[in-house]
Amino acid sequence: KNLEERVKSVIRDVQDFPKPGILFKDITPILLYPDLLQDMITEMANQFEGIQIDAVAGIESRGYLFGVLLAQKLQVPFIMIRKEGKLPAKTIKESYDLEYGSATIEVHEDAIKTGSNVLIHDDLLATGGTAIAAANLIKQKANVAGFSFVIDLTFLEGSKKLKEIKPIVKSLIT
Ligand code: IMP
Repeated sequence: KNLEERVKSVIRDVQDFPKPGILFKDITPILLYPDLLQDMITEMANQFEGIQIDAVAGIESRGYLFGVLLAQKLQVPFIMIRKEGKLPAKTIKESYDLEYGSATIEVHEDAIKTGSNVLIHDDLLATGGTAIAAANLIKQKANVAGFSFVIDLTFLEGSKKLKEIKPIVKSLIT
């Protein structure tokens, strides 16, 4: 089986989570297969061959699982983007609108090098709202090198919006 089929075969669909009517893509079974995980990280790194990446920024919390391995593979620093109030040192923040209300994400100010090229990673791209907020946060100090996801829910057309920020938007499966 090719890599795409192997990944798809372990991702689990959970009905009505976290709310009725939502079909949730559960990526946690991937972590039970170290060989698959390793092959995924290799492929994700290959997707950005020839593109200048100075750091990978992962979005809390499932973005850390693959993001830190991707950064390790690319031999660049890993930056944690967290929900407000969790990081202990000086941060920069970005607020964004949700379906109901708003949310704030932040990052340690000294984790981002001024003018560097930062790849934004998360496990899954849906509407793109989270990744856009992450991009706006990174842009306060640095450049967005591109976007990396394990899954792109293409019917929500999030990548269209991301491409307006930076046309390099990659996912392992759609
Ligand atoms: P967006 O902001 O609408 O693109 O939603 C993406 C964010 O929600 C990411 O941080 C995902 O981890 C999370 N998310 C949305 N739907 C799912 C899902 O079906 N499985 C796993 N994570 C999801």
